[in-house]
Amino acid sequence: MKPAHKDVSDLTEDEARAELARLAKEIAKHDRAYYQKDEPVISDAAYDALRHRNAAIESRFPDLKRDDSPSERVGAAPAEEFTEVEHLVPMYSLGNAFDAGDVEDFIKRVRRFLGLDEDETLALTAEPKIDGLSANLRYENGELVVGATRGDGRTGENVTENLRTLADIPKTLKGSGWPKRVEVRGEVYMSHDDFAALNERQRKQGKAEYKNPRNAAAGSLRQLDPAVTARRPLKFFAYAWGDVSEPLGETQLEAVERLDAFGFTTNPLMERVESLEAALKVYEEIEAQRSRLGYDIDGVVYKVDRLAWQDRLGYVSRSPRWAIAYKFSPEKATTRLERIEIQVGRTGAMTPVAKLEPVTVGGVVVSNATLHNEDEIARKDVREGDFVVVQRAGDVIPQIVEAVKKRRPNDAKPYEFPTVCPCPLKTPAVREVNERTGEKGAVRRCTGEFACPYQRREHLKHFVSRSAFDIEGLGGKQVEEFYDDGVIAEPADIFTLKARDEAGEIEPPLREREGWGEKSVSNLFDAIAARREIDLWRFLNALGIRHVGETTARLLATVYGSWDAFFETAKKADDADSSKRQTLIDIDGVGQVAADSIGRFFDEAHNAEALDRLLEQVSIRDAEAPAAESPVSGKTVVFTGSLEKFTREEAKARAQSLGAKVSSSVSGKTDYVVAGPGAGSKLKKAEELGVEVLSEQEWLDLIAG
Ligand code: AMP
Repeated sequence: MKPAHKDVSDLTEDEARAELARLAKEIAKHDRAYYQKDEPVISDAAYDALRHRNAAIESRFPDLKRDDSPSERVGAAPAEEFTEVEHLVPMYSLGNAFDAGDVEDFIKRVRRFLGLDEDETLALTAEPKIDGLSANLRYENGELVVGATRGDGRTGENVTENLRTLADIPKTLKGSGWPKRVEVRGEVYMSHDDFAALNERQRKQGKAEYKNPRNAAAGSLRQLDPAVTARRPLKFFAYAWGDVSEPLGETQLEAVERLDAFGFTTNPLMERVESLEAALKVYEEIEAQRSRLGYDIDGVVYKVDRLAWQDRLGYVSRSPRWAIAYKFSPEKATTRLERIEIQVGRTGAMTPVAKLEPVTVGGVVVSNATLHNEDEIARKDVREGDFVVVQRAGDVIPQIVEAVKKRRPNDAKPYEFPTVCPCPLKTPAVREVNERTGEKGAVRRCTGEFACPYQRREHLKHFVSRSAFDIEGLGGKQVEEFYDDGVIAEPADIFTLKARDEAGEIEPPLREREGWGEKSVSNLFDAIAARREIDLWRFLNALGIRHVGETTARLLATVYGSWDAFFETAKKADDADSSKRQTLIDIDGVGQVAADSIGRFFDEAHNAEALDRLLEQVSIRDAEAPAAESPVSGKTVVFTGSLEKFTREEAKARAQSLGAKVSSSVSGKTDYVVAGPGAGSKLKKAEELGVEVLSEQEWLDLIAG
């Protein structure tokens, strides 16, 4: 018999620490036995007792809570255990529509891009947006060879064996005539009934319950042992495809019917519509059935039906231009607004945030909501102390719809928006006047820039964000803590963290901090080291230059190719006479405002110094020339005059996707001028400079070849 354990109230701190370590190990062992092998070695009651003891010690010594604490875990499936799969065709996300007007705009945008005549029909498919997690299934000669999660869209986790256990996923495609290579995509989800039953089992076995069916599906799919996944009731709807050796059809509907014929389950509610009115009607019908479907959906997805048009529309940033998700109306709740707090963003923008008495909206506890800006507060006349209606749509930040005036306390005063930054420096905050329109901007900004500690903190958070340095284990929350503690003051400090920690310069050392331990600290250092070499676009985005977001950063990376080439230009970006500045402005999608902002950024002494320190720590990978085999990659093209087969927008998008740089003015660096009827000064200039001039058809022949 083991000696009886001491009563929790008698433990010393050292004993408690040792005891928590022992319990973490022991519970993890039992979790593995249960989750991965499904062979528990102790009774449920004994397992419960271990968890209770762990929880009791943690509640007496909250500071000792380990970062691998069993109370924070469900199941046992660390992501590092799966190998990575690079998606041959990225898995995209979807743009959102929140009302009928947004859907109408989407249709107009598509029509404009394709240059459709008024009497030409634009057919769309409409189908439920399943609230699960997407997966990509690769079949070669009809056999399932690899299955992966979406991950960040470019790289996912290899969960082939787990996906094989789903009844809805054929191991071998049915019928014949499937392409030799086909990737089928769709959503893994769990039905409401299965979810309830799973949680009931978890509860009985004293294990943590899953929050919602989507989490349960994700947790079940990412089990280390496929045998465990096999026992979880996961389902799959197929609705899309990735890499295919031959087209699946001419329309979305046809292609999805093929998936059905391959043996997949496709959603029975999918329909084809030919007008905005019909599209909105399907939305209403699907919403009306929502509560009876038996699985979670969070909106309706519209896709352009004709696949040739989808190809032409292509992608912008992370979403297709040819699809949109119309989300269901947000859920609402009423609560008290305790006070309004001002948050300072990376660019100094002061955003008013409503601090609320916590309230559940659509299954999530909400205690903060955005009030957007000064004018919005005035327009809605929202006051501290008011009862307010809060709404939440999907992953969108909760918003305040209105104040309930009838319940307003007598002493509530109109809110006065501060005119200084809430940071200790109390720098004046101003509303900039737009030079062109002469109008006052909606946003009040702190003018402190790099002196403002709040802006610096936000810069750091942006620096580590997903589309910037994306350091695993170092998210916004961690960076914020390190910043507030003086451990990290600027980006370069991230890369000296390990050396400083090992030299004992950080007090207390990282591994002794709350939420950290030996293992997580060493993982963090590995993750940081892995980012010492960084893609150019990520680096450019990470700098957090105003008006240079992810899309512009990618564009700049493609155009300049290397950091040195970009930097040479950037240094000259605010010199009105510099030809380098002109090259920036000429890039379609950059323009004056961004060029000015780039110029200002690199002129600022603090930035220049911080950048130097950062460059000592990291090396920047040159941009890969996209589609190197394209006959126009790296070439500079100017479109002028009217085009007949394409809209200007489409022609540009297509050229850029083939790796060409599209410029808005002709210079000695221009490779081609594509001139349509009505071309004027640009054509003349091209002729003067001896730049090759192509007709629209010649251009099409060139890119086709
Ligand atoms: P989001 O992640 O909100 O940008 O939405 C994109 C995701 O919606 C995709 O990655 C899919 O996982 C999911 N989705 C669910 N149902 C569908 C559907 N019918 N068509 C396309 N995407 C869908």
